[in-house]
Amino acid sequence: MTQTGVEGTSVDLKLIKNIVMVGKIKTLTGLHIGGNKGELKIGGTDNPVITDPQGRPYIPGSTLKGKLRSLLEFSLNRVDPSGGVHSCGDEDCPICVIFGSPGEDRVRGPTRLIVRDATLVNDVDTEIKMENVINRLKGSAEHPRAMERVPPGAEFAFEMVYGIYNQRDYEMLRYVFSMLSCLEDSYLGGSGSRGYGKVKVEDVSLIVKTVEDYYNGREGEKIVLNGKEKHTPLELVENFESVLKEIGK
Ligand SMILES: [Zn+2]
Repeated sequence: MTQTGVEGTSVDLKLIKNIVMVGKIKTLTGLHIGGNKGELKIGGTDNPVITDPQGRPYIPGSTLKGKLRSLLEFSLNRVDPSGGVHSCGDEDCPICVIFGSPGEDRVRGPTRLIVRDATLVNDVDTEIKMENVINRLKGSAEHPRAMERVPPGAEFAFEMVYGIYNQRDYEMLRYVFSMLSCLEDSYLGGSGSRGYGKVKVEDVSLIVKTVEDYYNGREGEKIVLNGKEKHTPLELVENFESVLKEIGK
């Protein structure tokens, strides 16, 4: 069904399919995503990492989504000069379409990308690292503070769902893969400029679920590229034309 937009444009708002992306985020350096300082654990620190109710560290979907959005804003030179979140509401704007804009009805259709919390899948314990500020004149360490961090080698399972509502949404999926690749040369969480939060994104599978699959109780189809079901973000960008073919553009 075609609806007429506010500005008189015609935009199709029928969900065609969802592309479910699952994969792993592996920490290569310590990761610090700040938690609730109010809940001081016994033997804890005043800079704890965020944990789920079972005390396991995780990567909130909002943290991952916000980071990808910010990388896309920088890469397209659309960073808000006031430092706020970019929001033009233009229906051609990849940032507003993929990640949403406040006052969502300005962009026709829902936010295309849903990012779930990424859960820790291997058995690692957080560690406490003492951080010092060096006194420039005396050369001595001062004001040590204890930072809790997830050590290198932790693996988090992530899941994102990208909804396709019109033909243009297919092409915009490229930005999601590109920013996942760009994330590897940036950082997640705090203290990134001091080496924290370097991650590797790997084993990304794409599962295509059409509206007909949902209606008929089918599981959807995992796409195969070059004989493989799992890919790096770089491979998905490199082979984007094949990805489009496989997801049935
Ligand atoms: Zn925009």
